[in-house]
Amino acid sequence: MREFTYTAPATLGDAVGALALGGPGTKVLAGGTTLYDLMKLGVERPRALIDVRDLPELAGFDTSGSDELVFGAGARMADVAEDPVLARDYPALAESLAKAASGQVRNMATVGGNLLQRTRCPYFRGGRPFPCNKREPGSGCAARGGPDRTQAVLGTSEACTAAYPGDWAVALLAFDARLDLLGPSGARTIALSALHREPADTPHHEHGLADDELIVRIRVPVTAVGRASTYHKVRDRESFAFALASAAAAVRLDGHGTVVDCRIALGGLATRPWRVPAAERSLLGGPLTARTARRAGEIALAGARPGARNAFKTELGTRTVAQALRIAGDRWAR
Ligand SMILES: Cc1cc2nc3c(=O)[nH]c(=O)nc-3n(C[C@H](O)[C@H](O)[C@H](O)COP(=O)(O)OP(=O)(O)OC[C@H]3O[C@@H](n4cnc5c(N)ncnc54)[C@H](O)[C@@H]3O)c2cc1C
Repeated sequence: MREFTYTAPATLGDAVGALALGGPGTKVLAGGTTLYDLMKLGVERPRALIDVRDLPELAGFDTSGSDELVFGAGARMADVAEDPVLARDYPALAESLAKAASGQVRNMATVGGNLLQRTRCPYFRGGRPFPCNKREPGSGCAARGGPDRTQAVLGTSEACTAAYPGDWAVALLAFDARLDLLGPSGARTIALSALHREPADTPHHEHGLADDELIVRIRVPVTAVGRASTYHKVRDRESFAFALASAAAAVRLDGHGTVVDCRIALGGLATRPWRVPAAERSLLGGPLTARTARRAGEIALAGARPGARNAFKTELGTRTVAQALRIAGDRWAR
């Protein structure tokens, strides 16, 4: 058994202080729905846990603002998924949460913790005898040449093909979300697009947060393109499973049916949440048809580098984008 200490600070200031004092090996604990799992698997071996789940400064969310939507990092996935304003004005955001995990998990899990969940790559979670550069830097990658059906096809490297598993970050990326962070040296704000890293030759460096920094809140600029949006998720089991391929798509058309704004981001296919600006640009200034949607999907997957057994993901991803655009387009027409 591995020992660790557990602290539940009463304020955000105390939590930051505890993180700074704890040093390496100190981890933030929110809903615990993935951190506890990883501790049992021996992937995470924290010496100290700082429980931030019920900190008042991280609680709640507000979707009524005229400039931005604000989500406290401690807001529960279930509460945000069920917000009627979000479901009406940003269905992609609401759906990305509603289609993630199970009802029980969503009741426990937080929208901040969701962003920092780690890959579901079976070699990463399984550990020895399988080599995994993300789990044990320099050990190799068992997915290279091995069974790799659920691995990423975009943003991979020789060292790692593990797919980013989350849904919420994919939808947030499509809407240019930003994160407010707090650490011992103060507060800063980063674009969500700067949070997750591609593996390159250091797959164990997954995100741009310092060890002693907390996500305090997520902010999303208000935009009219949210209304005609969707999070389309294709998975092995509809009741709950991680995405094999997913696409957050949003469109805005003018009175002539010409696309004037478009957002597309991919999940389940890449090593991090994956925005596809070239696919978005391909639709601007023209009509949204089955042909142009399919073309946007092809452009989105143009850089795909499948492994031995997941070439199907290129076509699946292309179709997922096209279908997401069709759903978003139908919502615009309503
Ligand atoms: C059976 C099952 C199915 C699932 N299916 C899906 C799915 O389909 N789609 C999906 O997206 N997810 C899925 N998940 C993952 C689930 O959504 C995550 O476990 C959950 O969102 C994590 O949130 P949490 O609050 O429990 O985080 P925790 O487990 O407490 O923490 C997760 C990580 O985030 C860090 N962290 C947490 N909060 C903060 C903060 N405020 N600042 C800095 N770091 C922080 C922790 O240190 C830890 O590293 C599934 C999980 C399970 C168990």
